[in-house]
Amino acid sequence: MKDIVIRDIKAFVTAPRQINLVVVKVETSEPDLYGYGCATFTWRSKAVVTALEEYLKPMFIGKSVHNIEDIWQSMMGSSYWRNGPVLNNAMSGVDEALWDIKGKLANMPLYSLLGGKCREGIPVYRHADGSSWEEVKERISEFQGEGYRYVRCHMGTYGGNFDKRQQLIKPENAPSGSYYDPKKYMRSVISLMDKVRTQFGWELEIMHDVHERLSLADTLAFARELEPFKLFFLEDSVEPDQASYLKYLREQTCVPLAIGELFTNPVEWKTIIQNQWIDFIRVHISDIGGVSPALKLAHFAQAYQVRTAWHGPNDLSPIGMAANMHLDLCLSNFGIQEFSGFDEAEQEVFPGCPQVRNGFAYLNDTPGIGVGFDEKAAQKYPAVENMDFSWMFSRLPDGTAVRP
Ligand code: MG
Repeated sequence: MKDIVIRDIKAFVTAPRQINLVVVKVETSEPDLYGYGCATFTWRSKAVVTALEEYLKPMFIGKSVHNIEDIWQSMMGSSYWRNGPVLNNAMSGVDEALWDIKGKLANMPLYSLLGGKCREGIPVYRHADGSSWEEVKERISEFQGEGYRYVRCHMGTYGGNFDKRQQLIKPENAPSGSYYDPKKYMRSVISLMDKVRTQFGWELEIMHDVHERLSLADTLAFARELEPFKLFFLEDSVEPDQASYLKYLREQTCVPLAIGELFTNPVEWKTIIQNQWIDFIRVHISDIGGVSPALKLAHFAQAYQVRTAWHGPNDLSPIGMAANMHLDLCLSNFGIQEFSGFDEAEQEVFPGCPQVRNGFAYLNDTPGIGVGFDEKAAQKYPAVENMDFSWMFSRLPDGTAVRP
């Protein structure tokens, strides 16, 4: 086999949807052979670019593009301290670009290279949210009208946003932040789910994301109260540091449990999967280092009947979303794919975005990951310097800072 080596590694930041996306291009010793990967850690995009340009690039130029596993393992050890989101995202950009290149060399779409299709289309779910029941109802109806059968239902986003509705009593000089009241939030969601089932019946599959905003006692009570509404899953009912509490949730509620978008280290998923405390593993693929570790994680989870539900927010490039979907197509323990849509600007910058019809996503079947990157078009949407991160400064009504 003719050796082909890495000639250059380039990092781009673009924001077609006003959200910074990090794209990696690996160029090879063959003039027209290159690959793209997603390295989007939107809240620390400059740190990821530095890790790529200042550290990984000089170490891996000249390495054979054929040996993805060797490069991945070498990248993981290259800074001694490891398993953090900055390095993992930088590694993902290179890893996915190498898989893109391998698919192009094999003249196969990535899912075919990884074993072939387990299904023809990928069921996806959307987010319905609003500041009132009327707004949420309208969003669900719109999604249903477009053919979606799975919807994550929220009101007031995470925690219910009761501060904005001026229903919280706070102490004097309370610092600014994204305030919420756990009890009000729980009651509002129970009421919301009751309305959703009354209005839309039982054919609609519904999810809800706690976003780690409840105490352990509250999250158990909340899960049990949600049982009558038969959720497809309840997401992030605990934060990663408290994952051992999933044991008690599993023993005391029948609500299907999903977690994982904040995970960066295999230690975080090993125990909860081996003990079958969860039903869905939801890692953000670039946050664990790309397609290579995601494949291993999925196969490990399959042994325990834990299904995949890869994180699919809008701070993920269409290249990253397509990488998720290649895995969705070829994994028998695929569960569902979160999907945040692509707007016109994204489709301009990323030609070949997956298409969604009647609630199913479809890839375009070109070799590799199949989503390109128009470097000229991307320049029209430069990185945003001041993204809105106010929602991450969550506080309880007495002013206590909590994780978002
Ligand atoms: Mg989530």
